[in-house]
Amino acid sequence: MTNNRIPLAGVIGSPVSHSLSPRLHTYWLRRHAIAGYYIPMDIAQEDLPTALKTLPMLGFVGINVTIPHKVAVLSLADTVTDRASLIGAANTLTWQKDGRLFADNTDGQGFMDSLRAGAPDWTPDMGPAAVIGAGGAARAVLSALIAANVPSIRLTNRTRTRAEALRAEFGNRIEVFDWVQAGNALDGAALIVNTTSLGMTGKPELRIPLDGLSPGSVVLDLVYSPLETRLLNEAREAGCIAVDGLGMLLHQGAPGFERWFGVRPTVDEETRKVVLRQT
Ligand code: NAP
Repeated sequence: MTNNRIPLAGVIGSPVSHSLSPRLHTYWLRRHAIAGYYIPMDIAQEDLPTALKTLPMLGFVGINVTIPHKVAVLSLADTVTDRASLIGAANTLTWQKDGRLFADNTDGQGFMDSLRAGAPDWTPDMGPAAVIGAGGAARAVLSALIAANVPSIRLTNRTRTRAEALRAEFGNRIEVFDWVQAGNALDGAALIVNTTSLGMTGKPELRIPLDGLSPGSVVLDLVYSPLETRLLNEAREAGCIAVDGLGMLLHQGAPGFERWFGVRPTVDEETRKVVLRQT
């Protein structure tokens, strides 16, 4: 690739039209006066290997990856970071100067950056964390909490076996709570994270008794549509610090942008406004 080529990045998935990443990265490109483009690309599963070979030839320096390609890209990359291996999926790919494909997962970092931005006084040693849900997003959250040295993590999920599988994989700092006793997992927790899709527009509400919430504890909901979920609303009423899911979405994009375009973008109020404008 010659040096004066316009750098291209984008997001691949199927479908991909719902993705907020083009709005986010296009805003950052404009804000930093970078002559690059960020393009959404709907790529079928069977075309994935060809796409990953072709995109760098067209000038792509990297891409974000969304459903259904997040797991499949791992076996097509030349290098996979430890955190992507642990999470079992990649969301950020970069073609290095030697042409090798580097796969990373920035969801856990995005979660932690958003937590620290929304609740600056929270520290990992403040007490147990309670994680609700055991799907893909929970894997990123658990890996970040463990990396941050949170001493104990209570995990509850509708399908208990999935929570137990995560405990087997992530270690015995995790204690599994039965779904019908999910309320007990919140008792005295310094941090509560909803990683289920419950509370999302079109999905049932998350109905966990919240009387165990202590004022001052932090409640982070990964759901970002709507931004203000019932969980966050009730948490605020109980005197907790509520952090919405948009922050994680924005923060997970920053490392990729920096790798591809050489500037670390900031996630601020203006970024949130721009991304929310058409949602
Ligand atoms: P996933 O792998 O499909 O996992 C879904 C989780 O929700 C599982 O724990 C599942 O429990 C639970 N769940 C679904 N329907 C349920 C119901 N009716 N009752 C009880 N539990 C139910 O999905 P994911 O990728 O982890 O995503 C989960 C949520 O996180 C989505 O809302 C997604 O938009 C959000 N998310 C946000 C960000 C961000 O940047 N803010 C990033 C990633 C994900 P079972 O195991 O029992 O099915």
